[in-house]
Amino acid sequence: MTEKRVYNFSAGPSMLPLPVLEAARDQMMNYEGSGMSVMEMSHRSAVYQKIFDETKADLKELLNVPDNYDILLLHGGATQQFGTIALNLCEKGRADYVVTGVFSGKAATEAAKFTDVHIAYTGKEGGFKHIPTQDELDIRDDIDYVHICNNNTVMGTEYNYVPDTKGAVLVADMSSDILSRPIDVSKYGIIYAGAQKNMGIAGLGVVIIRKDLIKPHKENIQVLSEYDTMAKAGSMYNTPPAYAIYVLGLMLKWVKSMGGVDVMYERSKKKAAMLYDYLDHQDFYIPHADKDSRSNMNVTFTTPNKDLDAKFVKESIAAGMTNLKGHRAVGGIRASIYNAMPIEGVEYLLDFMKKFAEENK
Ligand code: PMP
Repeated sequence: MTEKRVYNFSAGPSMLPLPVLEAARDQMMNYEGSGMSVMEMSHRSAVYQKIFDETKADLKELLNVPDNYDILLLHGGATQQFGTIALNLCEKGRADYVVTGVFSGKAATEAAKFTDVHIAYTGKEGGFKHIPTQDELDIRDDIDYVHICNNNTVMGTEYNYVPDTKGAVLVADMSSDILSRPIDVSKYGIIYAGAQKNMGIAGLGVVIIRKDLIKPHKENIQVLSEYDTMAKAGSMYNTPPAYAIYVLGLMLKWVKSMGGVDVMYERSKKKAAMLYDYLDHQDFYIPHADKDSRSNMNVTFTTPNKDLDAKFVKESIAAGMTNLKGHRAVGGIRASIYNAMPIEGVEYLLDFMKKFAEENK
């Protein structure tokens, strides 16, 4: 069956490394002699607890998470955290949001239900092609936190610096670039991510939180959104997204086997540079993101017109690639090249792009 697999450029859920799928397949019916699938296990069993603990330990190791941070493995992907963060962190009742695309906009809208949100920057007028510089950020004094989205999945833009928040807690959505680059966790109060890109499958939200930000129990927050209760229960107040956590564990072991986050970073830079170098030396395709704001994970561009965009997508499917159609907010083409995308997949896409440009000039 594996020979029929396509190069899947989906923004998420995304392709998984073959060794991860093979391990899941091999362990499907009988996980390490337990006589059952991970899908069938009690989350309170010793065998599952070992999977859970190893997963957390591997994430801590791979991202160098300091000891004064907790890792929570929660339900609801990244979106669940949009409101959860505001509910848990707001004491002054003021938070600043840097809006650089679809998901940071959604995060701000959700947070505004619970706290006073100030938009410290929005790239809307410029079509979200740009990551603001420090000077462009209008950050207020006396706020609970500043929220950024580190990599904008839809727009294909990514921060190449950590903003200075004038002392406020920095919260970052890293759904689409976590584990693709080294990060200094100590610069952030909270890092959160949905798992379905570099960390496995959908439904799981990973939250790395500085322990002092886990405030004592608040009565008016739904229990699954309350960091204090979830942290005290080791993320198992209720049944966690158990299988997604297991797949995260497989993904982390794969990243380790590949050499860790530094190796992922070198690979990601190399894959992205192959596409951007080509885009910068031709006159058929139009890259979307500004040069200094480009993402190593999501490469966005258009052909000269919408008909050719559609033709590109159609012919790419016939050539054995899938999910290259851009998000409706940007149009055109988006190639998501997360950790699991092999270099050969990018080479294959590049050859296709060159041929398509020649044929349609
Ligand atoms: N943030 C970013 C940057 C995303 O790319 C996504 C999903 N594509 C989300 C948040 C929302 O994640 P989820 O669907 O897991 O809630």
